[in-house]
Amino acid sequence: MTVLEVTRESTDDQIRAAVTAWVEANVPRSWRDAASAGRDAIRRVRPRTDYEDWYPTFADSGLAVATWPREYLGLDLTPDQARVAEAVLAPYNLGRLNPLGLNSAAPALFAHGTEEQRRRFLPPLVRNDEKWCQLLSEPGAGSDLASLAMRAVRDGDEWVLNGQKVWTTWAHFSDFAVCLARTDPTVKKRQGLTYFAVDLHAAGVEVRPLKHIGGEVDFNEVFLDDVRVPDEWRIGAAGDGWRVAGSSLAGERQMVSGVGSGGVDRIGGAGVDRLIQRARELGRTNDPVMRQRLLAVYAEERVRSWTNQRVRATVQAGGTPGPAASIGKVQQGTLNQRIQLLAADLLGAGATAWEGDMPFEVSGMLRSRANTIEGGTTEVNKNILGERVLGLPREPDPWADTPWEEIPRS
Ligand SMILES: Cc1cc2nc3c(=O)[nH]c(=O)nc-3n(C[C@H](O)[C@H](O)[C@H](O)COP(=O)(O)OP(=O)(O)OC[C@H]3O[C@@H](n4cnc5c(N)ncnc54)[C@H](O)[C@@H]3O)c2cc1C
Repeated sequence: MTVLEVTRESTDDQIRAAVTAWVEANVPRSWRDAASAGRDAIRRVRPRTDYEDWYPTFADSGLAVATWPREYLGLDLTPDQARVAEAVLAPYNLGRLNPLGLNSAAPALFAHGTEEQRRRFLPPLVRNDEKWCQLLSEPGAGSDLASLAMRAVRDGDEWVLNGQKVWTTWAHFSDFAVCLARTDPTVKKRQGLTYFAVDLHAAGVEVRPLKHIGGEVDFNEVFLDDVRVPDEWRIGAAGDGWRVAGSSLAGERQMVSGVGSGGVDRIGGAGVDRLIQRARELGRTNDPVMRQRLLAVYAEERVRSWTNQRVRATVQAGGTPGPAASIGKVQQGTLNQRIQLLAADLLGAGATAWEGDMPFEVSGMLRSRANTIEGGTTEVNKNILGERVLGLPREPDPWADTPWEEIPRS
């Protein structure tokens, strides 16, 4: 295990030298050679399983979460120092694994967890030894998450959880989940909630995959039937779960909008640069209308990336993105859909019929439809922006002051 010997006192040159030496000693030769030829070349020589097997070497170096404290596998660097390290790593495309662990569970543990919880959960999360997902949405509670019905009842030093979650991304290969459950139905809906870390291998957990139209599985239904969770895995105070879950949701919004620490640039489809390259290959760059459409998404993509950089800088400087993360989420969701529709348009009739595998332009276009739903819908994020950024009157909620158990449900 090679931990980088850099500190907050290190100069930028010392950091560059240490990261370069680490890359030469630890990144396999064939991956380094492919790096000069771009991301597609790296993908060809680096199957996903090889990357997963190697990944703990990266995590142990401290570089995967360079601004985190050393006890949780970080390097305790400043955001500016981390950017210097990241610039050296960029050509090797070392994407972070366990994105929901990094962007949903970790923010809640940092903001509301105990020191024991952070020491227990964060190192294996960073190494991708324990994968995480989030048990939030339910069949009757998506946008109005606070109306959820999963129950958690205290029993000595444990809680007993019962209920159903849905749309749980990656639960079929996860080890843990953050989970929001109702611990007091007699108070207002946002007050009676508590946040837990749940072991998905515990007795009583059943994960049922939901298949996409093409047969692949991303998300699941998850049933909890008398699942016992130790009180020491409660994150934050009992009854304070709505506030704790807010840290996860803001982190997820950042991830989906491209500013999270999971290395996610966009969810679904190819980037604008690749689109322009495809337009050249297909001889479409002389078409003035196509040129104009490409230029429009290129310009918007630049603006999006600057907005994201601003949010990322705030977060790395120790601030919270808060409602600002909703700006990136709204912009990224709709922009990526336009980019992927344009990609499919480039193919013309080829986007409706093909031989062999589905073209990446079509799969990207289909996947991007979820961008305006996952991590909170565009409409709901616009409500958040209206209320918390623009200061408009709150959306009326006739049940806001009613105890949860008295609110009518179907
Ligand atoms: C790809 C994908 C992955 C997901 N992964 C996870 C996951 O890992 N974990 C998890 O817990 N959940 C996950 N979700 C669920 C996601 O968070 C919900 O789908 C989302 O919050 C919307 O909830 P809903 O589907 O119940 O829709 P609803 O809340 O029923 O909304 C239906 C429609 O009504 C609109 N609407 C609702 N309320 C309002 C309002 N107040 N004002 C204006 N319009 C409104 C919505 O915008 C939407 O168009 C995932 C969803 C997708 C698509």
